[in-house]
Amino acid sequence: TIGDNFDRAVAAFGDREALVEHATGRRWTYRQLADEVHAVALGLVDLGVGKGDRVGIWAPNCAEWTFTQYATAKIGAILVNINPAYRVHELKYVLNQAGIRTLVAAPSFKTSDYAAMIDEVSGECPDLEDVLLIGREEWTSLVAIGRGGSAAHLDELQAELSADDPINIQYTSGTTGFPKGATLSHRNILNNGFFVGEMCGYTEADRICIPVPFYHCFGMVMGNLAATSHGACMVIPAPGFDPKATLETVAAERCTSLYGVPTMFIAELSEPGFESYDLSSLRTGIMAGSPCPVEVMKQVIDRMGMTEVTIAYGMTETSPVSTQTSKDDSLDRRVSTVGRVLPHLEVKVIDPETGETVPRGTPGEFCTRGYSVMLGYWEQPDKTAEAIDEDRWMHTGDLAAMDDEGYLNITGRIKDMVIRGGENVYPREVEEFLYTHPDILDAQVIGVPDEKYGEELMAWIRMKEGAEPLTADAIREFCTGKLAHYKIPRYVRVVDEFPMTVTGKIRKVEMREVSVELLG
Ligand code: ATP
Ligand code: MG
Repeated sequence: TIGDNFDRAVAAFGDREALVEHATGRRWTYRQLADEVHAVALGLVDLGVGKGDRVGIWAPNCAEWTFTQYATAKIGAILVNINPAYRVHELKYVLNQAGIRTLVAAPSFKTSDYAAMIDEVSGECPDLEDVLLIGREEWTSLVAIGRGGSAAHLDELQAELSADDPINIQYTSGTTGFPKGATLSHRNILNNGFFVGEMCGYTEADRICIPVPFYHCFGMVMGNLAATSHGACMVIPAPGFDPKATLETVAAERCTSLYGVPTMFIAELSEPGFESYDLSSLRTGIMAGSPCPVEVMKQVIDRMGMTEVTIAYGMTETSPVSTQTSKDDSLDRRVSTVGRVLPHLEVKVIDPETGETVPRGTPGEFCTRGYSVMLGYWEQPDKTAEAIDEDRWMHTGDLAAMDDEGYLNITGRIKDMVIRGGENVYPREVEEFLYTHPDILDAQVIGVPDEKYGEELMAWIRMKEGAEPLTADAIREFCTGKLAHYKIPRYVRVVDEFPMTVTGKIRKVEMREVSVELLG
């Protein structure tokens, strides 16, 4: 179980640094981290929290998030990650949907008054018994009580757990619709964290800068669990993502690894004064979460010095990672594919209509099977049955093509594919081409309804600092002769920002809604 694995790390790496909050300067060795985790675990036990009870956590990245993660794992309570961007309506939904008994929360974050929002909904959440605001009286007294508790009792509780028990409910990003709660076991996420760490070659010498949210599997599994299962150190730059704070943290803490979705790396690379940060300690890192533009990958290698950086592909439902590149792959594959399947997992690419495996090189739906596949969506058996078939294959809804040596290319989401005049267009391909324009910072392509062709392509673009906005004509000219005519965007919209999820993903659903309105 996660608790057993954590105990092994403490025994092996006790005096090494385990966790750093750069913004506050707070830091813990593995042994000190274990003291905090045990205190929180025993404090929760004292409150009456037991195996299978849901404990919600609603906070931006902070040390207490990590304490709570390992504390719940040790007592077998199910940790429910709550999106830091939620408002009352969504908060009430998740508290009731997951039946949360105990809620650990930051009192506030940015402009959100969490304490007030909890007060507002708690009367309508019958399962909710305790609210612990981090840093406030309820939390400090829980920790104080826990410190006086019995370590032997904690060991007894841990010994009763099984690797297949549910331990975590994580909601998907909500990129394509309403988020769904993936129920995950120790076996699911612990294995995934371990193998992701192997792919990055982590040892106790590594210091991983984690600006991606713990609320999401990118932070809590690929970050925290990968770190503790290899004795590495978790470094939190700031609560919430800030490119400047991230660069400062990497330099000051001598981080060897840095994580981000593509939009985060784009923000860091275009941060004023980028060249003045000493990033020479960086060796590796992970870019994941949405299509990783080749151009951005190249810059991460050349300008950030992350020579061993990897790309990972996965989803919340698969703990999350299914494929990852390795430093031993050719440079071309490391910037243009999502690598090969992780050890001990299976993948296949099928025709979504017939379910038959397609030939190598042909795009189809990516399916995966093995330890990474979630137990199911929390209390949504119908949705689970749509996603996981009788043979336990997870149908991801993503389109991929596999080459002869097993490297995968993600061509997009089935839902995002555009069919223009009968031709399938993968927005990803057009986006990659637009990136090669010297004035374009970021580009996203969607399909909008069209009377003649069924769908037409529309590009939303962000210009580089100081560049003149591009017109549709200018884009057409740039693409003509280089892209097939049916892939050239008919409409172009220059924007400052894209609509995004808190995990930094671009919400194409929202882009489509706005575009349909704009085009009238
Ligand atoms: P929802 O399921 O709620 O619509 P979501 O699918 O974005 O949201 P996540 O589980 O956070 O929620 O993200 C998984 C998805 O992210 C994958 O299904 C895939 O579409 C995309 N993705 C992840 N990594 C990559 C990658 N390296 N390249 C391309 N796409 C990726
Ligand atoms: Mg999804």
